Amino acid sequence: MGLLALGTPLSWDDSKKYNDFIRINGIKHLLSVFHNCSNRTNDPLLWGDEVEYMIVKFNYSDKTAKLDISNDNILNLLNDEKNYLNDCNERNIHFHPEYGRFMLEATPLSPYFNYNGDNYIEFNMIQRRILADNILKDLNADDVKTQSHKLVTITSFPRLGSKNFTTVDDSQLWNHKNNYSRSLFLPDEIINRHIRFPTLTANIRSRRGEKVAINIPMYQDLKTPKMDDTIDFNRNWFQNEDKEAEFASMEKFIYMDSMGFGMGCSCLQLTFQAPSLPMSRYLYDSLINLCPVMLSVSSAAPFFKGWLADQDVRWNVISGSTDDRAPYERNVPSLLKNSNQYGGIDPKEFENTKHLPKARYSTVDLFLGGNDFFNRSYNDTNVPLNDTILEQLLENDTYPMDYDMAKHFAHLFIRDPLVIFEENLTFDENKDFDVLQNHFENIQSTNWQTLRFKPPTDRFSTDSSSPGWRVEFRPLEVQLSDFENAAYSVFIYLLAESILKSSNKLNPYIQMSKVWENMDLAHKRDSTSTEKFHWKDSFEDSISTTSSLYSIDEIFHNKDNGIFNVYINPILIKKGFVESDWKELKYSEDKQRLYYYLKLISDRSSGKIPTTARYMRDFVLRHPDYKQDSKISELINYDLLMMCDRIASLDDSNGELSSYFGTELVDYLQNNKIVV
Ligand code: ADP
Ligand code: MG
Ligand code: MG
Ligand code: MG
Ligand code: MG
Ligand code: MG
Repeated sequence: MGLLALGTPLSWDDSKKYNDFIRINGIKHLLSVFHNCSNRTNDPLLWGDEVEYMIVKFNYSDKTAKLDISNDNILNLLNDEKNYLNDCNERNIHFHPEYGRFMLEATPLSPYFNYNGDNYIEFNMIQRRILADNILKDLNADDVKTQSHKLVTITSFPRLGSKNFTTVDDSQLWNHKNNYSRSLFLPDEIINRHIRFPTLTANIRSRRGEKVAINIPMYQDLKTPKMDDTIDFNRNWFQNEDKEAEFASMEKFIYMDSMGFGMGCSCLQLTFQAPSLPMSRYLYDSLINLCPVMLSVSSAAPFFKGWLADQDVRWNVISGSTDDRAPYERNVPSLLKNSNQYGGIDPKEFENTKHLPKARYSTVDLFLGGNDFFNRSYNDTNVPLNDTILEQLLENDTYPMDYDMAKHFAHLFIRDPLVIFEENLTFDENKDFDVLQNHFENIQSTNWQTLRFKPPTDRFSTDSSSPGWRVEFRPLEVQLSDFENAAYSVFIYLLAESILKSSNKLNPYIQMSKVWENMDLAHKRDSTSTEKFHWKDSFEDSISTTSSLYSIDEIFHNKDNGIFNVYINPILIKKGFVESDWKELKYSEDKQRLYYYLKLISDRSSGKIPTTARYMRDFVLRHPDYKQDSKISELINYDLLMMCDRIASLDDSNGELSSYFGTELVDYLQNNKIVV
């Protein structure tokens, strides 16, 4: 997604009458894409990463690290030809907006093609950071002695939603109502200024009929208070919303009440183009059970809202923060007695309203099938469908879809559009194709699952001059350094390439219900070293889905069914990088860095070195200012962010890098700096 066009967004109440209109027209677009592009073949393996950044202001004399909500104009400068657009283009980087005013996202401008074992991905990531950091320095030139503004790649900002967590004084943020989110903790000023984002926030709340309510288990230490004691139960700004905390919060849980808690987290995503439609479906299905496993191995979010959490990842926080389901749909009573079970759903729709077991931000719901290994019984979970859309997909003159593909979209299209722009309501169906595409994307891109199946964008382009059938891998938490983010990107790339080049051999299927269970397991504290996950006993049996419980170490390193032997070694051999095993790369002249990328992930999965979450949790627990009360003080927050910044610049002056990566890896990194 690039810069967003401006327009007039409708409030939930004004927009809801157009929900079916948007869905039906969105599906018309989808059907023409399938009609024109389903025969595309031999599309090249283009791919790219998306890294999400937070801009943090460090004040060395006050010892504070705050989320910078005052420099968001940097995104305009980065995309303006009179400013830094040429610098971005020359470096093949592109900056995009993100939910938080303190956030940026960056991708390569043109996607990568293939991977030849070089350092380019990391090099590209390093350039993004350097360029943005330099601009931030110029923008804030008057106070460089005691302060600096920098991009930080941390999944969850420890004190997001606590006192004084932004660069604007609390007295200015809290002297007026935050009408969009109505949160007790997050001012509206943290939300991207583009009107789509505050509208999204308000419309999710309105559709749900309540503020979102996210309860995350609090880490229990000797002096941890029973209750989250940061909640103001007595605020009297919003008649209903201010009363909700009393019913929504719980003992031993961190309570959060706004979209920003989840969408204000950072992640690392990767998109891969498959050669054809059937191969994109196979790639999608093959990656499904790798999502929870890779979430565990990338876990990097041990804290929320100033508290240590008793879990390690961001996923369920974002899921809760975008959960627009009304109480009836969630099959629970509304928080307040006088509230409507149907939230903001149009009364005309009450009788069609269903229970929806999962939020729109959640793990993948359905295998796509379309290959010989697949059997419909593998989709064994309760996944509601939009029956009207299902019928439209199966029976039409443009492209009658097969049932399994149709089921995927009929499920995505149970959701309502969240933001409709008035300008998009009148259009010529035979001419304004971008508007129709927009209607499709309206639903498609607000279904935030662990994978996203991305059809070609241009319905008329039947060759590789425009994006083809792609799969996006979305569970990964962002890592502290470009080295790690490159390592995880390359690792997933190798999985994707391996899958695409072994289609007739590997049977990826396992029951979907087990994938869902794995996703819950991946949330547990230290899941990488202590939990066992459902994993296939063999990938070579063409009809079996049998699985057993394996540790993450086994899932990566087992001889017969481990990731390194099933996926990584075969593709490295096929590419001519090694003769039989990835460890040979250590002695390679030009691909040694790849060895260390793989070693990082191997050592994390075997527990030889800590996950990012474990490392940061220990940092807090050992901090002299920590009072065994699970709280992250401003000083701990500052020291932690300073540590993250040292790790990002591969600075081992405090010995932190060595305990984070292990000494062999650090030796390699110190002797093999990437020069930009
Ligand atoms: P979104 O936010 O919708 O996922 P972005 O534009 O932020 O989309 O990111 C898309 C990613 O896909 C980028 O990393 C980009 O480099 C990559 N990409 C672009 N074109 C292709 C393509 N044809 N095939 C695969 N990946 C692509
Ligand atoms: Mg993006
Ligand atoms: Mg996006
Ligand atoms: Mg993003
Ligand atoms: Mg995000
Ligand atoms: Mg993305």
